[in-house]
Amino acid sequence: MQEGRFIYLAGFGVEKRLILATAKNIREVFGFEVRFSYITLSPRLGYNPYRRQYHASTILESLSRVHYPDMLKFAALLSFDLYEEGLNFVFGLAQLGGRYAVVSTYRLKSEDERLFFERVFKEVNHELGHTLGLMHCKNKKCVVRFSNSLQDVDAKSRFFCENCSKILPKP
Ligand SMILES: [Zn+2]
Ligand SMILES: [Zn+2]
Repeated sequence: MQEGRFIYLAGFGVEKRLILATAKNIREVFGFEVRFSYITLSPRLGYNPYRRQYHASTILESLSRVHYPDMLKFAALLSFDLYEEGLNFVFGLAQLGGRYAVVSTYRLKSEDERLFFERVFKEVNHELGHTLGLMHCKNKKCVVRFSNSLQDVDAKSRFFCENCSKILPKP
């Protein structure tokens, strides 16, 4: 099958304005065109009532059944809190070198909407970077640097460093 050209973006419980702004950010940073996916997820999918959080890899696995013929990558923005075993929470999760990525907006919130949107862009770019084969980078400004806290997220840029940019595929 021919490799798709579009990055698909889906939102679950996320404002449309944020989805549109995220699409613009993806076009700017990756150069790929974005299409929107309107699939639905079962509302209890991955829900853990003891933790009152959603299991990120269960959601990622379910999303990986979604396919479009012209799809290069698929990123989902979710409003609910995600976790993985052994971690209190995760900002997002992606398949390294795969097609699918999820990002939660839950822990990125700020009174300052610009800051909130910027954080979401960073985490989306980070997870999409993983799907494009990038591993964590040590460069302090690089978006694919590991972030474990909001301070870490705020300290990096939404862009890839020169080295990582060289590895990214060109549209
Ligand atoms: Zn990462
Ligand atoms: Zn880098």
